[in-house]
Amino acid sequence: MHIDAKGWLLSSKIAISPNFNQRPQGAEVNLLVIHNASLPAGVWGVDDIIALFQNQLDLNKDPSYHDLAGREVSSHFLIARDGEIYQLVSVLDRAWHAGVSEFEGVANCNDYSVGIELNGSDDQPFTEEQYRSLAELTHAIMRCYSGITLDRIVGHSDIALPAGRKTDPGPYFDWAYYRSLLEPV
Ligand SMILES: [Zn+2]
Repeated sequence: MHIDAKGWLLSSKIAISPNFNQRPQGAEVNLLVIHNASLPAGVWGVDDIIALFQNQLDLNKDPSYHDLAGREVSSHFLIARDGEIYQLVSVLDRAWHAGVSEFEGVANCNDYSVGIELNGSDDQPFTEEQYRSLAELTHAIMRCYSGITLDRIVGHSDIALPAGRKTDPGPYFDWAYYRSLLEPV
């Protein structure tokens, strides 16, 4: 897996989101944030998540979607249950995944992080294919940004403010297994 000079993973499916802007001048990208997402909650499939990230989600499709009106969000990557990787925003740009956030005293994690969504929820395991793709993708990102070290890979729940605002990737995300796939880099 390789990310090109423009910040795109060559082997991913591209599903461009308009929800991004430039990173602050001189910002070093040195954080990786893992999320989970499912729409509706607990239902697998990436179409509605991609639609949300493209501001194209039909809010009448499900009652729970009404809360999403006007939400302009995105992530750099989305990994489907079968391990397929979708890219929505170049890693050179600032995606809108972390919201109000802070890591080790530095606010606004979107400025200096890469965000990966796994199609999943807080109450079900992720798939082996997702872990494999996530690990390969993580390696590709780490090759781009040497500041993303193993201790700078976090969950959304670790950085969201106020504390407890976000719970993802949740208790079913197997950090030990994920880390075992990352070593040696
Ligand atoms: Zn999240």
